Amino acid sequence: MRCPHCGNFDDKVIESRTLANGDAIRRRRECNGCGYRFTSYERLEDKPFMVVKRDGRREPFDRHKIEKGVERALEKRPFSPMQIESLVNDIEDQAEIMGRASHEIISKDLGELVLSEIGKLDKVAYVRFASVYRQFESPEEFIKEIKKLGTGEKK
Ligand SMILES: [Zn+2]
Repeated sequence: MRCPHCGNFDDKVIESRTLANGDAIRRRRECNGCGYRFTSYERLEDKPFMVVKRDGRREPFDRHKIEKGVERALEKRPFSPMQIESLVNDIEDQAEIMGRASHEIISKDLGELVLSEIGKLDKVAYVRFASVYRQFESPEEFIKEIKKLGTGEKK
């Protein structure tokens, strides 16, 4: 596979794991050129994992979108690319588990999942992602959310 970091095609698999629903294999790979570690997923079935949007339309689950959202939220925060990747892995695994039966996940649930995973890592990033994702209707709502974080209170 092509290394996302240096473009080298030479890598070795350092770990393979079948996901909980049994229809995908996640492989951790290490580039033999630069040592960068990345993840690939292989589907064992043709049936793609889908996201159900608010208007009822479905689109294939896109890891890239999650990555972008997470990266944006964690921008200039003290986290390494590895930590970010591992966060995205957790999100993807969780999403697969949540959507195991139907092969799909509701976009709102996916958004909440991303939010809660980001929240475990970083409060600033959590607020950033929440403000984009939830589009708070009022400043009060936003302040409420921040207060919840301050006290460590779970929703
Ligand atoms: Zn590389």
